[in-house]
Parts: sequence; C-alpha cells; structure tokens
Amino acid sequence: MENNLSYGSDYKYIPATSIGSGIGIEVLQDLFCYTVQIVNIILVGHPNTKEFVLVDAGMPESADKIIEMVEERFGENSRPKAIVLTHGHFDHVGAIIELVKHWDVPVYAHELELPYLTGKMSYPKPDPTVEGGMIAKMSPMFPNEPINLGNQVEALPADGSVPYMAGFRWIHTPGHTPGHVSFFREEDRALIAGDAFVTVRQEFLYKVLTQEQEISGPPRYFTPDWAAARDSVRKLEALKPSVAITGHGLPMAGELLTESLQKLAREFNRMAIPDYGRFINKNIH
Ligand SMILES: [Zn+2]
Ligand SMILES: [Zn+2]
Repeated sequence: MENNLSYGSDYKYIPATSIGSGIGIEVLQDLFCYTVQIVNIILVGHPNTKEFVLVDAGMPESADKIIEMVEERFGENSRPKAIVLTHGHFDHVGAIIELVKHWDVPVYAHELELPYLTGKMSYPKPDPTVEGGMIAKMSPMFPNEPINLGNQVEALPADGSVPYMAGFRWIHTPGHTPGHVSFFREEDRALIAGDAFVTVRQEFLYKVLTQEQEISGPPRYFTPDWAAARDSVRKLEALKPSVAITGHGLPMAGELLTESLQKLAREFNRMAIPDYGRFINKNIH
C-alpha cells in the first residue's frame, strides 16, 4: 500500500454532535446504520458472514470508534471487503485514511468524485450565508480541501454494480457534489441515499442535536448545484424506496418515507432550495 495518503491541510476535528452519536440501528438484518457525531455510516452485510462493506467513513478522528463498532458487529479483527463512498465531503471520509491503513482495503467512489479524493480538486467552500441555522453558520470551519487516497481509490464499475454489495446498484445522484451516488437494492427497495436528501434539517443545530425527523434536501451550505440536486431527488423518489438510510438523520421507512419523499420531489424548490446564499442562481426557481 502507498504510504503517502493524506488529508487536506484544513482537516480537523469538528466539535458538533447529536444525541444519536455512538448509537447503532439495525435497519434490516444486513443493513446497520451507525452515527458518528452528526453523520451516518453503514455496514452492509449479514453479521453471520464475514462479507461486508462499509459505506462512508465518518468524521475526523473517529477511526477507533468505527473499528470498535465493526468488531462488535462482525467479530474481533474483522474487516470490510471495501469502503464504498457516497461522496467525498469531509464528514463522509473523516476517518478513511486510518481505516484504509488499518484494514488495507480498496475504496470505491464515482468517477466524477475521484478528483476530490486524489488531491486534485477542492470542493467549493461551504456557504455560511445560506438560509439556515447554527450548523450553516459554523460551516466555514468545515474542511473542503481534497484528501489524497492515491491509487487506493477506484471508480465504481461502469455497469452499475457495487463491489461486494450483491443486489445493490449505484445511482448517480449529483447536485450536492458532482460524483455523488446513492445505492439501491431492487429486491427489498432499500436505499442508501448519502446526502442526496437527508432526514434532518442539517443546517439547524438543535434539530441535528435532537435528530428531529424531517425530510430535507441536501445540506444547504455544501450544495452548489440545485437543479441537479432536484433531478436527483426525483430520480430517487421514482424508485419508491421502502426504507432509506441517509447521510444525516434517522433512517426512515414505510408510508412516512413514501409521503415525505413524494412531497420533497414535488415541492423541492420551496422545501430544499434556500432563498438566498452564494450557490443560488435565480434561474432555477
Ligand atoms: Zn455532503
Ligand atoms: Zn454529509
């Protein structure tokens, strides 16, 4: 393995948390959602087998917690077959270098996300002027510089399959980031949505803190392309997922999910797109 893996120079611990932090939820027998401070990571795979994948990689400095959680669920010294990323924002790759070094596993992400994972391109700086609450206001401290995973990271297969996640296919859901993907399993209509939509108003500190469940578009301070984000939500809604694990907030299922997602798809402009902020182009309204 290469030894020159590195985080961006603005990488740091972020002091934000929620009441869900450190709690795991078995959403389905082979889908385990675990909250690291304010973001979710997912273990895909039945605990009776040793075949599993980690989707996303938590917050900065959370590697020890993640390894402990994985060993608790899959046994001592167990490790995933791969780490698969919905996208490369700092809160989804925060512990990835320590994890890759500890487990020596490949990382997969969408081709268009690779520049942000190989040190070539920074994400736009978060927009603290966006309509929203405290988390939006504190977003300038969020890292936006790219990490460098070198050739430890590979593009997801072009045929839509997801390595080591049989039954799932990846769906390109750009807008929040150019190479953002979600993962969908036709058989039981399970959806891993990343930040394409979330189930908590991520801009508001008290809602994040209490994890008050409320469907929402992608986190506003970090979403530069709202027209694409809207198309992505509509694409996911058309799949009629029965259960969704999102990058932030509690898992959502059944009628609540169906109705909330329908509403978000239909009323995306009003519900998701902020009225003001740097990423707002009046033409999309
Ligand atoms: Zn994100
Ligand atoms: Zn996120």
